[in-house]
Amino acid sequence: MLTTENIENKEVASLFRLLGKNKDKQVNAEKLLDLLAKNGVLSDDPRLQGLIDKLQTKVDDQIGKVIIDDQQFHDIIKNHALIKKSLKKELVIPDFQLLCKEIKNIFDETIKNKDGNIADYIPQLARINPEHYAVSICTIDGQRYSLGDFDKNFCLQSSCKPINYCIALEELGEEKVHQHIGREPSGQSFNELTLNSKGLPHNPMINAGAIMSCALIGQDLDIADRFDRVNKTWSQLNGNKPVYFNNAVYLSERQTADRNFALAYFMRENNAFPETTNLNDILEFYFQCCSIESCTKDLSVAAATLANAGTNPLTGEAIFNPLTVQNCLSLMLSCGMYDSSGEFAFKIGIPAKSGVSGALMVVIPNVMGISIWSPRLDANGNTVRGVEFCNKLVEKFSFHHYDSLTGHSHKLNPRNNHKGNQVAKMVSLIWAASSGDMDELLRLEAEGVNLNIADYDGRTPLHLAVSENQFEVVKYLIENGVDLSPVDRWGGIPLTDAKKSGNKKIQNLLEVALKKLDKKENQN
Ligand code: GLU
Repeated sequence: MLTTENIENKEVASLFRLLGKNKDKQVNAEKLLDLLAKNGVLSDDPRLQGLIDKLQTKVDDQIGKVIIDDQQFHDIIKNHALIKKSLKKELVIPDFQLLCKEIKNIFDETIKNKDGNIADYIPQLARINPEHYAVSICTIDGQRYSLGDFDKNFCLQSSCKPINYCIALEELGEEKVHQHIGREPSGQSFNELTLNSKGLPHNPMINAGAIMSCALIGQDLDIADRFDRVNKTWSQLNGNKPVYFNNAVYLSERQTADRNFALAYFMRENNAFPETTNLNDILEFYFQCCSIESCTKDLSVAAATLANAGTNPLTGEAIFNPLTVQNCLSLMLSCGMYDSSGEFAFKIGIPAKSGVSGALMVVIPNVMGISIWSPRLDANGNTVRGVEFCNKLVEKFSFHHYDSLTGHSHKLNPRNNHKGNQVAKMVSLIWAASSGDMDELLRLEAEGVNLNIADYDGRTPLHLAVSENQFEVVKYLIENGVDLSPVDRWGGIPLTDAKKSGNKKIQNLLEVALKKLDKKENQN
């Protein structure tokens, strides 16, 4: 009889076979970690730490390796949904290797691009090696891949703006925040001395709006605790990794801040700030946020947290509310790329935020976050290679937010639509059983579709095959141990259907099988 437990045991056994067991039915645990890594689940993933610690206690002293048998594998996998999902290719990007291959191709092509100039308004940015290039991705299931200088730190600059906006939204709510900041693209340069018709900054992604976000965060706290709040949020977003602070960048920003001071005074003249705002404190807080440092490897996890509606995929921590993230992504899409935000939204169609350090945070909702760093900037202040990378990415993959409308026929869709696929397979199986299509039934079974699956009315392939007089299918299902008496929502079992349709041959087949089963159960 196919019980849920049997099915699970069969599944675990076939996953164990995947690892290439030897004649003693054992495998090297490294093989398991390799396979996980191929699916993007890396060994520094906090979700694997329990497993890795456990494996460390099992090192075989003679061969210096960790050997596991099928029982140990069963125990590991039973309590670890991530491992099971990963081996069964049920993570959001099932063919992670294919995605990585394409990402690598795009990286190799775009690294050749030497156009643009590095920012030189402060010496700390002017001295950066323009050749740096790093790309990291992290999916909403925490599958990661990094290329280039992915563990080298750089300052966030304007890529801190979306996060400060999120923190302000979490503290005060949408209504209060937008009493101080608009949500329209300004149509002007990011540091233009301009406010909207209400005397407010146009949006939180440009300097005036970002200074305002700083004025809204932690108003009841002293300035050190306000900075701590931002710092701690970045660390949580990055997967509880440390974030760094570049004091030299901060001091330089403070020294070359005439425009930002002018913007702040202009806003104060228009009564845009909360009453108790101290301009100096707020500007310094803003420069400090721009001077936070991290690397693409960690920042891709922050971007993935936004792609995952505010929950960090590696730590499972809910950092922002989904509504906060929705608001933030809407503004990143319309205002995140300086003066080419409209062009970027039109052509690439993904929320993103760039910074003058060459940083770029890209969010593909429900799929993944990408962090890119390459210091050479175009005339609009966006990283040249980063923008080219995004262009090529959406040429290849259906990631533009309206690709679903055009059917994206020539583009690859790497997402897993597991639930949708399962439903489609269930419908196909039931259809194959009722129409007597043995080839299709065998094919679906080989794909792992459960022969006991039932539709909304509790009708199984056996019910349908009996009702439609599909003798060969009924025989096959019985021989392969399906449940003989599943009850549909009208209380009917397959034998009820056989009696109703008057097919004596099928009725007989079922009765003989039921008797055999009875006898076996009595013997036990
Ligand atoms: N610290 C820069 C400024 O406020 C931010 C520049 C940027 O990345 O857009 O001018």
